[in-house]
Amino acid sequence: MARTNGGSAPFLISGGGIGGLVTAYALARQGIAVRLFEQSPEFREVGAGIQLGPNIFRVLEKIGLKEAVLADAHRPPAQEMRDAITGNLITRVPLDGEFSKRFVQPYAVTHRADIHGTFLKACQSSNLITLETSRRVDSYEDHGDRVTVTLENGERVEGCALIACDGMWSRIRDRIVGDGKPRVSGHIAYRAVLKRAQVPADLWRSDVVLWAGPRCHFVHYPLRRGELYNLVAVFHSDHYEEGWNAEGSKDLLWKHFQGLRPEVLRLLELIDTWRMWVLCDREPVKDWSKGRVTLLGDAAHPMLQYLAQGACMATEDAVVLAEKIAAAPDDPVSAFKEYQQERYLRTARVQIMARVYGEFYHARGVTAELRDIAVGGRTLPQTYDSVAWLYGGP
Ligand SMILES: Cc1cc2nc3c(=O)[nH]c(=O)nc-3n(C[C@H](O)[C@H](O)[C@H](O)COP(=O)(O)OP(=O)(O)OC[C@H]3O[C@@H](n4cnc5c(N)ncnc54)[C@H](O)[C@@H]3O)c2cc1C
Repeated sequence: MARTNGGSAPFLISGGGIGGLVTAYALARQGIAVRLFEQSPEFREVGAGIQLGPNIFRVLEKIGLKEAVLADAHRPPAQEMRDAITGNLITRVPLDGEFSKRFVQPYAVTHRADIHGTFLKACQSSNLITLETSRRVDSYEDHGDRVTVTLENGERVEGCALIACDGMWSRIRDRIVGDGKPRVSGHIAYRAVLKRAQVPADLWRSDVVLWAGPRCHFVHYPLRRGELYNLVAVFHSDHYEEGWNAEGSKDLLWKHFQGLRPEVLRLLELIDTWRMWVLCDREPVKDWSKGRVTLLGDAAHPMLQYLAQGACMATEDAVVLAEKIAAAPDDPVSAFKEYQQERYLRTARVQIMARVYGEFYHARGVTAELRDIAVGGRTLPQTYDSVAWLYGGP
């Protein structure tokens, strides 16, 4: 039975990325009707991998999607960090054994399209969710007892409240927070996905491997039950382009990666076409709800990817928000305030720490030496302690 505020008015969601879809599903699980608008002609995710810490599985379990997400994923035995010039191992952190005991939930890596597809399928199976594509939300009005959104074609749609899951360049955020464009970090990520057969056997690793170099780093790990191999190369550059799908210049990449280990260069050479992300984030804010409108995921707290947590945080947001709304279905204003109150410090910490990790991965000279001593000198329990605030949550 649908529990919606104001009789039949559903909750409206703008954006059908990972955050929007999981929010729609988490609400429907609570019996709440949802209407979701996605601007693109179809629901899809870019071709790239995503790491999933134990914290996302804790909330996925609550909404019954843990096993479905794991079914497509790869479970890396360890995370490894190596010096990209000398090849020396800086640290190796097993993700089974003691890690599993400590955090109870698994660590996994998956294709973005796979987790997004799982959320989409879950939404499609619910008769409380209406999914609409080629529908861009342009603006909204908050009438106090309901909201109206105006779509790109001028159509006006009424709902009980609006949850903006419209990502890093959120239009709704402008009205709620008003902090302008995202902060350009000066770092660019190039990404590519190979089939297993394309990867030479001596370069294939089951672990998540991070090669730390001066002002750059390179990460690789398998995807989709080991059928694919994900490559991400990150380096410093002032180039700016909005969106997540521009083609990246190979010359620019080689300029930044010359002199690194042959294992790194041989993998980079395998890629014909790189896709590029100009990495941005924002300063954390405390207040991202106004009346019957709130933000979620990258719209609320966009972060650099160095802790591999943006999608994990969006999923945590979704489950917390759905619980708050379920507790007060007729009072979304209070539910939104309670949701942001519970979320802002945790997400802010990830935003800030992701910047620190970025500096850390790209360190040079003495700073890099200190990093290697500090990270390499830790015992495993100390390493697990250092991430307990993150993986032990939410
Ligand atoms: C290089 C890189 C690596 C990453 N690695 C990881 C990782 O390992 N682990 C992890 O957890 N996270 C990772 N992330 C972060 C993660 O990708 C994002 O945090 C997550 O995708 C955010 O999801 P979202 O739904 O909030 O936003 P988005 O994925 O940006 O989705 C927004 C959706 O809204 C739609 N939209 C926008 N405007 C409108 C509008 N006006 N009307 C209707 N629809 C609209 C868009 O078309 C899109 O579908 C990484 C990010 C990058 C850049």
